[in-house]
Amino acid sequence: MTELLAAIRSFIDERALPLERDFLTRPFAELEPRLNELRAEVKRLGLWAPHLPAELGGRGLTLTEFAHVSALLGETPIGHYLFNAQPPDIGNCELLHAHGTAEQQAKWLVPLARGDIRSCFAMTEPEFAGSNPVWMAATARREGGDYVIDGHKWFTSSADGAAFTIVMAVTAPDAKPHERASQIIVPMNAPGLELVRNIPVMGDVGSGHASHGELRFTGVRVPVTNRIGAEGEGFALAQERLGPGRVHHCMRWLGICERAFRLMCEHAVRRELSPGHPLGEQQAVQHWIAESRAEIDAARLLVLDTAQQIEARGAHAARDRISLIKFHVAGVLQRVLDRAVQVHGALGMTDYTPLAFWYRHERGARIYDGPDEVHKSAVARRILKGFGLKRS
Ligand SMILES: Cc1cc2nc3c(=O)[nH]c(=O)nc-3n(C[C@H](O)[C@H](O)[C@H](O)COP(=O)(O)OP(=O)(O)OC[C@H]3O[C@@H](n4cnc5c(N)ncnc54)[C@H](O)[C@@H]3O)c2cc1C
Repeated sequence: MTELLAAIRSFIDERALPLERDFLTRPFAELEPRLNELRAEVKRLGLWAPHLPAELGGRGLTLTEFAHVSALLGETPIGHYLFNAQPPDIGNCELLHAHGTAEQQAKWLVPLARGDIRSCFAMTEPEFAGSNPVWMAATARREGGDYVIDGHKWFTSSADGAAFTIVMAVTAPDAKPHERASQIIVPMNAPGLELVRNIPVMGDVGSGHASHGELRFTGVRVPVTNRIGAEGEGFALAQERLGPGRVHHCMRWLGICERAFRLMCEHAVRRELSPGHPLGEQQAVQHWIAESRAEIDAARLLVLDTAQQIEARGAHAARDRISLIKFHVAGVLQRVLDRAVQVHGALGMTDYTPLAFWYRHERGARIYDGPDEVHKSAVARRILKGFGLKRS
């Protein structure tokens, strides 16, 4: 593991960081050929998709081992992509590996694991509160051996250029809320499936992998064999995906925190307020640095402990810890990024460092995969139940 982390560290520092500035200032599509060259290099070095099992070309790391890798990759916005460990593909790979049929795995998982194609995951709808994941309008109606899908989705990350999406749609409207929907593979070129637009996010419309799409499904027909798992199992599969997925996100955020921290310290030493007097002499800056260090280190321990609990007891048993890290680390990320931007002054607002990119795109960390408030209430309700609270 130590050797693997050292090899990834060198690749990030020597090969990825020089390309980062272009990523921050140019459309993804323009940079894709150069990113693909680096992806090929990662493969040649035997570092590809370390979270995937060996039979899929990875290194079969455990969740805890991959958490360490994810923190390193998170130090640059292109890290996870270069190692084929980027969301949403990582979650789709895990889902297809655990629940896909042999045919689905051959057709979709194998090329996804090789990095030949990309994918996306379409669950959230603009007209319905995504915080209530069982409430949606998209339907998949059975007609003979097919599903006919109608629906409207948005914030489908990386839809632009994806080969397929996994869509969550209601297959049994009269079933219990948690058993109504199924997850179904839909090729992005299926007739009736339209990428309406890439949604502008804080002024950045994005493109390719680095985008969030709005999708419309109008009478989209796919074979019933495209369903993943049993009918009505969509919600349960989504929950299963989200447990380890939140550990991945949290460690990626801690990677961002480490880089922001380093940039903040370097700038505090380099930038002088008057000749011979660097910014780092200011007590306010010193406090931001100390507070950030404490928050990052504490958050890392909490996330690694959660990963170990998931491995030992399963995601359901570890659900309180998963909720705790989700909102806690998202908060640490916001605070560390904000302090780093502040220390950089106007430079922090530019795209000459990755801080502004993360500041724009990772504000969503407190919203996606369950907003802060949902996780806090879920944990607190279970705690208070132990103290006798009947309902809330
Ligand atoms: C960057 C980004 C990427 C995303 N990628 C994807 C993707 O790839 N696929 C996909 O399907 N979706 C994706 N999403 C959508 C995401 O899952 C939803 O935004 C999320 O589930 C919240 O749903 P909503 O936006 O409809 O907010 P709403 O449900 O409308 O909630 C709005 C706000 O209400 C508050 N709130 C909600 N519930 C409660 C509660 N119980 N108690 C107190 N306050 C509450 C919260 O502050 C919340 O932010 C992405 C979102 C972002 C920002």
